[in-house]
Amino acid sequence: MYRTTRIVLLFCAVIGITAHAVGQAPTQAVKISDSIYMAPTTGNVYMVTTPAGNVIIDTALEAQAADAKKVLQAVNQGPVKYIILTHTHADHIGGISLWKGPGTQIIAQRDSVEFLNYTTRLEGFFAPRNAAGFSRPVQEVGAWAGNYGAKIDTTLTFDQKYEFTLGGIKFELFSTPGETPDHLTVWIPAYKAAFIGDNYAGAGIPEPMSFPNIFTLRGTRPRPALDWIKSIDTVLALKPEVVLSGHGQPIFGNKEITRRLTRFRDAIQYVHDETVKGMNSGKDVYTLMQEIKLPASFNLAESFGKVSWSVRGIYDGYAGWFDMNPVTMYDLPASSVYPDLVKLAGGPEPLVKLALEKLKDGKAVEALHLTDVVLTYDQKNAGALDARLQALNYLENKCRNFIEEGWLQYGIAKTKEKMAAGN
Ligand SMILES: [Zn+2]
Repeated sequence: MYRTTRIVLLFCAVIGITAHAVGQAPTQAVKISDSIYMAPTTGNVYMVTTPAGNVIIDTALEAQAADAKKVLQAVNQGPVKYIILTHTHADHIGGISLWKGPGTQIIAQRDSVEFLNYTTRLEGFFAPRNAAGFSRPVQEVGAWAGNYGAKIDTTLTFDQKYEFTLGGIKFELFSTPGETPDHLTVWIPAYKAAFIGDNYAGAGIPEPMSFPNIFTLRGTRPRPALDWIKSIDTVLALKPEVVLSGHGQPIFGNKEITRRLTRFRDAIQYVHDETVKGMNSGKDVYTLMQEIKLPASFNLAESFGKVSWSVRGIYDGYAGWFDMNPVTMYDLPASSVYPDLVKLAGGPEPLVKLALEKLKDGKAVEALHLTDVVLTYDQKNAGALDARLQALNYLENKCRNFIEEGWLQYGIAKTKEKMAAGN
């Protein structure tokens, strides 16, 4: 059963969308209040109506943006005065051109410019990783757009805070970096409503919610944990009665909002501080990945983010790649001597045998390392490919994190390809 739901969730995770939204066009807008409506699609789209025109908060993935617009316009067809982007991930900016009219102000936090440039700068790097991790075809990438070649739609950016009033309703925008450096929160004091983008429910995961991705495997700059904590504090200090996320359902009532966001913030703080304590006491990153566990009292799953990946993300984010071992300074990896080790062992067979024994003892990761040794020596070795496939299948059956599972499936598919090519 886990596997069936995973396929849907996995697809969502590439851009962080809710299971609810995948492949479904919304049939109608969800009424949050008399003035706030939500189109629950690939990245929720919100419309705030005022007597002087409307404000659109996020615009969905391009492919679903028109459906979102249709259901929201069925409620109110007033002119769109502002489009506010909680951040510039693809599932929030795809419908800008659909909503934009003459004179529409498009607002994002200032770091969105560099974030979009960064994403565009490394488009060729990210495209195969997104495809691999999320079981989808590689998107074609055009000629390199350059270091500063992103298409920027925003007409207004701000640093820490920006506010405006429309139709007598005040909108306050705060910089709240978290899942991305350019995250912002929209606060409407009159409605006690906070629109927080993906800083809480990155994948629209229902309770008991998952620990977040402080680092994501598809590739990202470090997501500074302390900024994320501060951003959640910013939202809590507003004392909202409704929190509206980029994915998933609204959270109503300040008591419940405080309970959920506080728990989430404290979990990030715990993992961050344990990592820092371990770094200061001289522990290496692998030791900390093994040692740091989220206490059960947090009641957070690891179905989306994983604590061990976040520990490494925080560690490497603070310290970079050098591990004090002089050999790490040089451009030859450990695998450069793997072929020599295979020869010393008298060929692949003993190592393949050892890999299978490790697997029998439940040490699937060690088995994978051993197959790496053999496959560096002979990439078509049938015994090593078979042991590798078994180890990957073993890990996949135990897996309870849909991002991890995506990468295991990628490994399985690649191994099978090599096995087929060898026959
Ligand atoms: Zn998103």
